[in-house]
Amino acid sequence: MSARIISGTEIAKTIGEEVKKKVEELKRLHNITPGLATVLVGDDPASHVYVNTKIKMCHNLGIYSKNITLPAHTTENELITVIESLNTDASIHGILVQVPLPKHIDENRVLFSINPNKDVDGFHPVSVGRMVIGQPCFLPCTPLGIQVLLERSNINTDAAEVVVVGRSNIVGKPIANMLLQKAPNANSTVTICHSATKDIAKHTRRADILIAAIGKPKFITADMVKEGVVVIDVGTNQIGVTAEGKRILAGDVDFETVMPKASAITPVPGGVGPMTIMMLMSNTVKAAGQLFLLH
Ligand code: NAP
Repeated sequence: MSARIISGTEIAKTIGEEVKKKVEELKRLHNITPGLATVLVGDDPASHVYVNTKIKMCHNLGIYSKNITLPAHTTENELITVIESLNTDASIHGILVQVPLPKHIDENRVLFSINPNKDVDGFHPVSVGRMVIGQPCFLPCTPLGIQVLLERSNINTDAAEVVVVGRSNIVGKPIANMLLQKAPNANSTVTICHSATKDIAKHTRRADILIAAIGKPKFITADMVKEGVVVIDVGTNQIGVTAEGKRILAGDVDFETVMPKASAITPVPGGVGPMTIMMLMSNTVKAAGQLFLLH
């Protein structure tokens, strides 16, 4: 068997066209321009690249973006003051604080200071709590991207054995929670593995859908999966640099050996990554639309 490649790039492009139409509609019918604020503290080069990609995407889709860049020595209280002003800024519907923050800043205190109605990253405890009990909320962008990838690729999650490797707060735990909900595009039997799991392969071999979010290049090998598995590779690991200085990336899955056994698989890059950013755009437009619904 040779797997169908699930192109996150293509699916994100289609969703981008849909999001753009919604933006135009909000502007035309309700005089609302969705607005996203990005807050970046310090000089981490990767964070600058991520934020710039988000700003560019906002621009492409007609979303207003306000970009706040603060020096590395910004205090926690100064940062929270900035967020509080964004919380009450009527032109801003979504707030994104780029992590990691400098070490002297308590990340949780900062993320918790975001108005939950503007929590388009879905990391606020109100959003997390609502997600766990299956209430409407902003879902975190990478797990939401995975769920939408599965849905748009016509992969049935209902009653499926899903194995998630990784239990981070931003990927593993939320995607496991989302897929076990008694709801469409979910209703799976979910197992979560982590670094203390005794025999990971015993679990991964049972998976109809395997989601790898570990941060270890090529960790999942062919002997760890069954024939016909659907593989979602979240891993984004830099394994080198090209002569032109471009990053060479590898996923958490050994694509070459797993692909022949899988029925469908996401590539790295071009799988989950493009979906994550598009879900941020979609959440921002949703936040702006909710404002209209509340009026
Ligand atoms: P993380 O916070 O470092 O969490 C990694 C998880 O993997 C932890 O739960 C850890 O277990 C588990 N783990 C590590 N080594 C293991 C091992 N040998 N066996 C079993 N489990 C192991 O990472 P993350 O933020 O979830 O990200 C995971 C990967 O996804 C990274 O490569 C990251 O770059 C990528 N990522 C991509 C996107 C995207 O948009 N494409 C978004 C987010 C993350 P413990 O909890 O026991 O330590």
